Amino acid sequence: MLSVENLSVTFRTDEGIVTPVADVSFALAEGRTLGLVGESGSGKSVTAKALMRLLPGTATLGAHSRMRYVDKAGQAIGIERLSPRARALRRLRGGEIGMIFQEPMASFSPVYTIGNQITEAIALHRGLKGRAARALAIEMLAKVGIASPERRIDQYPHTLSGGMRQRAMIALALSAGPRLLIADEPTTALDVTIQAQVLDLMRGLQCDLGMAMIFISHDLGVIAQVAQEVAVMYLGTIVERGPVRALLQAPAHPYTRGLIAAIPRLDRLEGRLHPVPGEIPSPSARPAGCPFHPRCAEALAGICATRVPEPVDLGGGRVVRCHLHTGERSVA
Ligand code: SF4
Repeated sequence: MLSVENLSVTFRTDEGIVTPVADVSFALAEGRTLGLVGESGSGKSVTAKALMRLLPGTATLGAHSRMRYVDKAGQAIGIERLSPRARALRRLRGGEIGMIFQEPMASFSPVYTIGNQITEAIALHRGLKGRAARALAIEMLAKVGIASPERRIDQYPHTLSGGMRQRAMIALALSAGPRLLIADEPTTALDVTIQAQVLDLMRGLQCDLGMAMIFISHDLGVIAQVAQEVAVMYLGTIVERGPVRALLQAPAHPYTRGLIAAIPRLDRLEGRLHPVPGEIPSPSARPAGCPFHPRCAEALAGICATRVPEPVDLGGGRVVRCHLHTGERSVA
């Protein structure tokens, strides 16, 4: 239902042109979940916003960027060609593609009740008004596990607890009946017990409603729970992608191995955590060659600092960008 090819995004900034997303490609089939994982600054959210055409005016899509979405009616839409004010784009947002954010107040206006905001989405995308829209809004709030939804619907967002606001935001996104949900770090701000509840809820709703999902997180452990496919991003590029189980069992890219080693595990509480050394650079200071080379313990001398690795097909749906898989050897 969605294919993204060679997506690149540049921003005009005071420091010059920066490229937070460079040559990103992936595909998503109906009802499947793709996890986008990487540290803060890896380009995950910019990729999601590009798909919704929610980027600021300082952003430009690369000339070769293609984002093709096949809608309910089977019509292919070139998202990159839509003008930000096009009616087709308004229909796409919410009704076909919904988005939920890490911070629920980014979706809710503080001056309207959650009921006002959910019924407005229902009226816009499902054509229901009045009592029918309110009944559906209450049903959606109940579906996301909010107790006493008949009472909660008339509350303002700031009067709900963090976990409840997050659930209400999921209800808001789902009330428009999207076929694809983009969830940008939807559980990061929650404590672990509420996080587990919200992940359970999202998995259940996805099965019930048959939606596809792009789930964005910095946490590979969370991605492993919700996604069938995973794409690992580093400095705006997908460095490795493939089926989640195969990728976690035998990661091919040193950065993916670093992310896995950094996941805290109960069976090694005595040992030390192993964070990926160093920090992700700013997109304005993108290193030459492989962008990960300043932090990579396996970098090949004379190669990794100068040559950008091309994608290598490992078979079984797995692709990696790393010179270790191209048969290169260190140059003395
Ligand atoms: Fe490390 Fe080189 Fe592979 Fe980049 S290309 S991840 S620097 S080994």
